[in-house]
Amino acid sequence: TWQDVPLAPPDSIFKLTAAYKADPYPQKVNLGVGAYRDDDNNPWVLPVIKKATQILLNDPTLDHEYLPITGLPEFTAAAARLILSPTSPALAEGRVVSVQTISGTGANHLGALFLSKFYNWDGPKQVYLSDPTWANHHAIFRNVGIEPLNYPYYDPKTIGLDFNGFIGTLESAAPRSVFLLHACAHNPTGVDPTGEEWEKIAEIMLSKKHYAFFDCAYQGFASGDLDKDSSAVRYFVEKGVPMLVCQSFAKNAGLYGERVGALHVVPPTKDAADRVKSQLSVIQRSEISNPPSHGARLVALILNDAGLFEEWKRDIKTMAGRIIDMRQELYSVLSDELKTPGSWEHIINQIGMFSFTGISAEQSRELTEKAHIYLTTNGRISMAGLNSHNLRYFAENLDKVVRG
Ligand code: PMP
Repeated sequence: TWQDVPLAPPDSIFKLTAAYKADPYPQKVNLGVGAYRDDDNNPWVLPVIKKATQILLNDPTLDHEYLPITGLPEFTAAAARLILSPTSPALAEGRVVSVQTISGTGANHLGALFLSKFYNWDGPKQVYLSDPTWANHHAIFRNVGIEPLNYPYYDPKTIGLDFNGFIGTLESAAPRSVFLLHACAHNPTGVDPTGEEWEKIAEIMLSKKHYAFFDCAYQGFASGDLDKDSSAVRYFVEKGVPMLVCQSFAKNAGLYGERVGALHVVPPTKDAADRVKSQLSVIQRSEISNPPSHGARLVALILNDAGLFEEWKRDIKTMAGRIIDMRQELYSVLSDELKTPGSWEHIINQIGMFSFTGISAEQSRELTEKAHIYLTTNGRISMAGLNSHNLRYFAENLDKVVRG
């Protein structure tokens, strides 16, 4: 037994982090990390999370009993209002099904498994993923027997959105195809459609009866504004595009290890929603029985208390603001001071934690080998890895590899 199990390669991002940690070079920089860091490169526990943790510690009514199968009701209800808006017509009509999941990854998995089992597939089980996308999307869909296909998304020539390629695939795909859409702050490119582009995408999806599988892992991280970052999701609900949305609190609440997330499915009627909920409960029961309570309690506390909610929004602005500052600074050092060849506008046009720099795999490797700057070979950098201490070091070395 097990003699024939093939050896799998290590996860590339985790491998990168391990290499960074093992490097004794004092000026090393980690731009692979998908987690927020403060200006001293330390993980940041949000002040509002510290406060909520204290409140939970002092609550004598809390115990360690199981949560319901679909999670903590005051968490799932508030999480749905956060992403869909408190005035969402779908919520008012009682046709939103919300299930607490193991963070965003678990929401993607549960959503994918539900589709695999219950979507009315006309042909083979397939999902269209943006080219490129978060690498885990491929594995998550394959695991449940859904074959990933690509739709054009990133255009290396403009370091922006290949909008025509994208809508061309929406038009040519078989009716009722499933499209995975990043709600905001696209990972790994940092390139999002504009409001007008989202309207066009919704229009085609509606006319072709496509299904929108939204993944929202960065609400608040793109613009610093929770409402603005969910505008695409809300627009699709308003227009009646068939959809679900995966929601993660890992980044926006800094609760990476607590695994707090939710899956929201928005069927057209309350009757359909009740059926969907019954089946999601059956699946969840066999997969994880019921979700973990601590992180969900923290988030529920914050979402259901006006004062804590305001504090959270301030913390989000702190994180998003620092990232936007780093974009501005990197742009101005490259463009104005170093006069690095090429245009660097995309650094300030892109959104969220990640940025596609546009440099080649070879140049990325050169940064790692010569300057101890760790990044994935697709040229993606995490803006959260930059700070006032290392920005210039990074910019100067980027300048060097670009000049060749
Ligand atoms: N979707 C995308 C696009 C992501 O970037 C991530 C985090 N890297 C996730 C989902 C899920 O993250 P988590 O499971 O930690 O919430």
